[in-house]
Amino acid sequence: MPFKAILFDKDGTLFGFTDTWAYFCDRMFDALAGDNELLKDQLAHVCGFDRKNKKFETGSLIVNASADEVNEAWWKLLPGRSLQEIVDLNHEIYDHLPAVPTCDLVKVLSELRQLDFKLGVATNDYEAGAVAQLQEASAMTLFDFVCGSDSGFGRKPEAGMVHGFCERFDINPAQVIFVGDSTHDMDCARNADVGLSVAVLTGPATEAQLTGHADIVLPSIESLPDYLAKAGFLKGQDAWNLKY
Ligand SMILES: [Mg+2]
Repeated sequence: MPFKAILFDKDGTLFGFTDTWAYFCDRMFDALAGDNELLKDQLAHVCGFDRKNKKFETGSLIVNASADEVNEAWWKLLPGRSLQEIVDLNHEIYDHLPAVPTCDLVKVLSELRQLDFKLGVATNDYEAGAVAQLQEASAMTLFDFVCGSDSGFGRKPEAGMVHGFCERFDINPAQVIFVGDSTHDMDCARNADVGLSVAVLTGPATEAQLTGHADIVLPSIESLPDYLAKAGFLKGQDAWNLKY
């Protein structure tokens, strides 16, 4: 069965992770804790963010979990505030986040489209925010499918988003290439039984952390068209013909 579609994670894969999300955390903590530095440190600790060095720790909720899980973790440290208040604040700050692409998205995604792949985004973030960031990067029209943790397919590492993507285009998971920057993404790829899982190093996870979880580790999505061509995974190529 040939590969017909590529499903991308968003943060750390299409967009740089640290710039965007360190800014997000700092704005949330300002709004939730004012000038209470101790509370800010507690809020940072519970989501795995090192405020001083602007780094996300291994296993950070910001890296791996959904927006709902992060909001709940903060809410537990904020007696007197409602969860809805935190969710609303999250949305408000999220709407003004700087989106920094990991490469020339239009160039790379156009190249993949020319190779006849359907392209999708599966993020644990909210769908509307993902759409807004993609629009800002002039990349929204290059995708055939965008879903978030509030789109009704569940959240990664469950397999629902991959299955939703497959149903939309009437393809099998074995025909899907899943690209992401975290072990959560790679677990999702495995849970969904995709044909090829690709980890990229543009997120907080290191090569050592990702090796063994992915079929292949690449420096960034920029390397993907070349890798697929060299591996013979493009339509009509030898490896493609041999394999299928
Ligand atoms: Mg990611």
